Amino acid sequence: MQNPIIGHQQIVEQLQRTVASDRIAGAYLFYGPEGVGKETVARYFAQLILCQQGAQPGSPPVIGKGQVCGTCLACRKVDSGNHPDLQFIRPEGSLLKIGQIRELQKQIIYEPLEARRKIYILADTERMNPEAENCLLKTLEEPPAASVLILLTSNIQALLPTTRSRCQILQFHPMPTQALAEILVNKFSVAPDQATTLAIAADGAIGKALTQLEKGDIHTESVPEILKETNLLAAFKLAENFKDNPETLNELVTWYRDLLFLQQGAPSELIAHVHSLDELRAIVPRYSRLRIQQAIQTIFDTKSLIENTNTNATLALEVMCLKLLK
Ligand SMILES: [Zn+2]
Repeated sequence: MQNPIIGHQQIVEQLQRTVASDRIAGAYLFYGPEGVGKETVARYFAQLILCQQGAQPGSPPVIGKGQVCGTCLACRKVDSGNHPDLQFIRPEGSLLKIGQIRELQKQIIYEPLEARRKIYILADTERMNPEAENCLLKTLEEPPAASVLILLTSNIQALLPTTRSRCQILQFHPMPTQALAEILVNKFSVAPDQATTLAIAADGAIGKALTQLEKGDIHTESVPEILKETNLLAAFKLAENFKDNPETLNELVTWYRDLLFLQQGAPSELIAHVHSLDELRAIVPRYSRLRIQQAIQTIFDTKSLIENTNTNATLALEVMCLKLLK
């Protein structure tokens, strides 16, 4: 069966070799931005380990071959979420609690039921409080031989250095937005102009892009009004839009960045919004380099103000729009 993972080729090949040579470590830490594919790869890694391709009924479990067959009983159980030797542990409410870690420790000492290893995937481990993390450390220090722990996090700095040092660390990177846009077009039949917008809004994280796609939350790319608008009264309407969709501030930056690139005569591969190239070229002469740089700075400042302080978001966005229109 073909490897079903999109991107992360090096990591996938590394894990395949690890399983084929039966050199599986006791603990792994996968880190990278939300929606980038950590959990998908962790599940695939588990399936690599658990796959019983070629095993005879009644005989002891075999060592994984570094491939997933997709058809053996073990593979089908992983696919349906019913493999008894694979457990997912996720935060209950907002925290990964000490009770959950204790429960894991109670179970992990028993032999696997059907495979040679039992695997625990711990999602969002940055949400462990210190008690839970210290408790988990005991298992990380001496993991039972037949177990594999896979910790996932989008914020590695939130974990203790001792936790990190006990794990094999794999870093997951987002895709370049153009590459992600192409995948969305070719594999998910997204219209090209929508794919670019979606890829940028998702910061190159395919999981995020697919979630938005599922929600039907996509719009056809069009040059934001604020780049064209000169009427100050329009600022208040624009601020309202940003307040309802705060994630569009990141996207707005990419438009100003395109203006900056065009003004500097950068090659068109660098332009994110290629479908609006003509319109952007028509707008560029209205802007000085300084004004574009100030606009980008203003957006970042406003974003930081809203995220990190108790400031009134509506007011901050109105001020931002007025500055951008100036
Ligand atoms: Zn299989």
